[in-house]
Amino acid sequence: MQIAIYSTQPYDRRFLDEALAHHPAHADVTLRYYDVALTADTVPLAQDCQAVCVFVNDILDAPVLDALHGLGVRAVLLRCAGFNNLDVQAAGRLGMFAARVPAYAPEAVAEHTLALVQTLNRHTHRAYNRVREGNFALDGLLGVTLHGKTVGIVGLGQIGLATARIFHGLGCRVLGHDPAPDPHFATLGKVVALPALLAASDIVTLHCPLLESTRHMINQASLARMKPGAMLVNTSRGGLIETAAVIDALKSRHLGALAIDVYEQESALFFRDRLGDILDDDVFQLLLTFPNVLVTGHQGFFTVEAMREIAATTWHNLDCYLRGAPCANRISC
Ligand code: NAD
Repeated sequence: MQIAIYSTQPYDRRFLDEALAHHPAHADVTLRYYDVALTADTVPLAQDCQAVCVFVNDILDAPVLDALHGLGVRAVLLRCAGFNNLDVQAAGRLGMFAARVPAYAPEAVAEHTLALVQTLNRHTHRAYNRVREGNFALDGLLGVTLHGKTVGIVGLGQIGLATARIFHGLGCRVLGHDPAPDPHFATLGKVVALPALLAASDIVTLHCPLLESTRHMINQASLARMKPGAMLVNTSRGGLIETAAVIDALKSRHLGALAIDVYEQESALFFRDRLGDILDDDVFQLLLTFPNVLVTGHQGFFTVEAMREIAATTWHNLDCYLRGAPCANRISC
């Protein structure tokens, strides 16, 4: 069996190879690694493959799925939790097996959320450079103590809950919003409606999936509800935020700071070295000019533990597909 694995970097190959070596049942599986993303143009790379393995920015819309199916591809293995890039109906119509990695160290993303908050709050990125240049002045590095601050968590699933544990442990007052909150949240904070969360929080952090109902949930109206000077953090999916509205809120000084690990148009930018390239995305370039904006390139998940879990679960999902066994990670299409 051959599998076309799209959007891979050397670290993906390392962890997928290592995990496959521990799976004797897959001795006859050949992995065909590609660094390019899956798009309509790159579908032919899956010629002679029975499965494709993809990541967050690969395109799995109806035309791509139709074309893959035409080549004989019957299984889609997502190396991520979110599947907003998959046309579930089209996959169902074609009878394709699609499975994801629903949880691979939610703490990794929650810990990265804290890293972003504290970098922006305590200016450690600036302090690092200053000290290296022999500048020990503290002017411009003033932060706030997180203890006692209110943190609003939008989306109380696995990552939201892990984030709630962290901020609760720091002595913050934790508010949460979720149509179906995890019951464990009750010991960490209080569930409130979204407008109340936005109005009361010093830090608002997004941990809900990107759905049609959540696209641009942070827009001009929701930003206006936020406390003046509050910090907005997004480690979930870029489409949750209407970027133009956030830029307006930063310019008006209403929004105090922005930390994002994800960006609406990230597929054209992230996961590769663009040093020396001219970046055509004016909105992204503008974001980078604000001193109170911090951007990381979708690295929230990127820990050794999470990479091992992604690889192991991906091969487990393949195993279920090959054996025709029930798969808890299967996306119902
Ligand atoms: P999860 O499914 O465990 O939790 C998501 C929660 O969001 C659920 O409890 C759901 O009820 C809630 N939700 C749905 N609609 C909502 C709404 N309108 N308002 C508030 N809450 C809503 O998912 P998770 O594992 O916690 O992951 C959350 C998101 O994090 C994923 O969808 C993915 O997009 C993102 N993610 C990012 C990275 C990264 O590297 N930055 C890594 C993994 C996941």
